[in-house]
Amino acid sequence: LRANFSVIQKETGFVNGLICVLHDITEQEKIEFERREFVANVSHELRTPLTTMRSYLEALADGAWRDEEIAPNFLEVTSKETERMIRLVNDLLTLSKMDSTDYRMTMEWVNFVDFYDRIIDRFEMAKEQNVTFKRILPKHGIFVEMDEDKMTQVLYNVISNALKYSPEGGQVTFTIQEKNETIIVSVSDQGMGIPKESIGKIFDRFYRVDKARTRKMGGTGLGLAIAKEIVSAHGGNIWASSKEGKGTTISFSLPYESAEEDEWS
Ligand code: ADP
Repeated sequence: LRANFSVIQKETGFVNGLICVLHDITEQEKIEFERREFVANVSHELRTPLTTMRSYLEALADGAWRDEEIAPNFLEVTSKETERMIRLVNDLLTLSKMDSTDYRMTMEWVNFVDFYDRIIDRFEMAKEQNVTFKRILPKHGIFVEMDEDKMTQVLYNVISNALKYSPEGGQVTFTIQEKNETIIVSVSDQGMGIPKESIGKIFDRFYRVDKARTRKMGGTGLGLAIAKEIVSAHGGNIWASSKEGKGTTISFSLPYESAEEDEWS
């Protein structure tokens, strides 16, 4: 808060008033600080893969290309880093679209239970790890007004993490619970978990518990930040609960209208 004082003084020198104007600059400064931090983060995130690629390409140019064992390995690293940079730039574009004022969503009524089931099917068919899937879903349909593509991205980001952090032979559990006028969608894994002090931060842009490790896993640090933006645009919340060494549950809520209510309205 910044305070500007003006003294109201008569020609005689007699002070008969004081005006105090308070400016709430904290919010403005906070936004500015966050913007600068974001730009610094983006630059850093882009520079890291680029410098890695440069050193590998230099080594190849210096003669490593002749080595039949080293060359394919170096090319694979540069190609992986290129893929990650493309993902990063795509994630940045998604966030920048969401930050812009003309952010539009295409809302339609979707049976969330069917929709969730279909997305889980897709992951189950594509999975390469030894992980079992368990679904605890309602037998009846639940209709939610939402942007299907955007909600697909939320689930994609959350489920990819659950698989990424799942141990060999682990189980991923998918649930939907109904509570009052909201549904709560959860994805639980039996992975390494998240330390207590980090739980509140994992939805921040570029926050990772272990930067080097998640980068190696191809992460951008933006997946959960994007999920959070989309869920809030739908009027819901997203949160995590976790026990280190035991596993993590990511849950989000979405408002919905129950069928009974529809009948009466
Ligand atoms: P990333 O691309 O690094 O996965 P996210 O925004 O998706 O970025 O996640 C942010 C961080 O939260 C991750 O780097 C990781 O440290 C932590 N995290 C997210 N999901 C899980 C999970 N299921 N188990 C353990 N840690 C997780």
